[in-house]
Amino acid sequence: MSKEIISWKQKKIIDSLTPFTLLDFQKTPSVIVWFSQCNMRCSFCYNPEIVLGKANYSFNDIYDFFLSRKNLLKGVVLCGGEPTIHNELYDICKELKSMDYNIKLDTNGLNPRLVKILIDEKLIDFVALDFKGLEYNLKKITKVDKFEEFEKTLDILLKSSIDFEIRTTYHSDIYTLNDIYKMLDFLELKGYKKRYYLQNFISHKSTLGKITSDNKTNLSKVIKSKYSFDIKYRNF
Ligand code: SF4
Repeated sequence: MSKEIISWKQKKIIDSLTPFTLLDFQKTPSVIVWFSQCNMRCSFCYNPEIVLGKANYSFNDIYDFFLSRKNLLKGVVLCGGEPTIHNELYDICKELKSMDYNIKLDTNGLNPRLVKILIDEKLIDFVALDFKGLEYNLKKITKVDKFEEFEKTLDILLKSSIDFEIRTTYHSDIYTLNDIYKMLDFLELKGYKKRYYLQNFISHKSTLGKITSDNKTNLSKVIKSKYSFDIKYRNF
């Protein structure tokens, strides 16, 4: 029996949409696309149902929504899960660009090849890169040993003219203060000059792994900045 061939437009890779936000993309009125599944397994992940669950929608299913909002909303935030595990992302960005949307990509940085193509072809306008750890602790934190890929993505962003930010979600069960300083030192060595966000873990309904709700250190009060980039604090 021959297998039915499914086009990229029909493949279910999207968990859900948030139809409107002003908070995620530099105050641009935007819709958020939550891509299903992820190639990391961070214990503090807020979205276990997206990371482990089955996708609900294909691009075809959400196409009319984007068409009908194209004069009302300016931006699309692509997040998840991890959008770059889906090769269909390239075609989705092309379609959204043809409707004149500005596109923000949230990524864990494990697919440098796709990120480079999206930047080179001007299919994305802004990137938020999650910085989860260094060579010595990335596997412990995310269950994958792919620091090289993350670093490649960071290098691509640093060499490009695209605007981007780097961010880390902090919990005192996961990172020591010394871990955070090592990450800051790494960014300084890389010549990073933009904004770095330290986001406080906030107790949520459920997480991917077991983690206490008690975050003991208020980083905004203890980090001594000697860096050439801006450190911003969220939710401390
Ligand atoms: S927090 Fe980790 S597991 Fe969750 S979506 Fe982000 S990279 Fe994936």
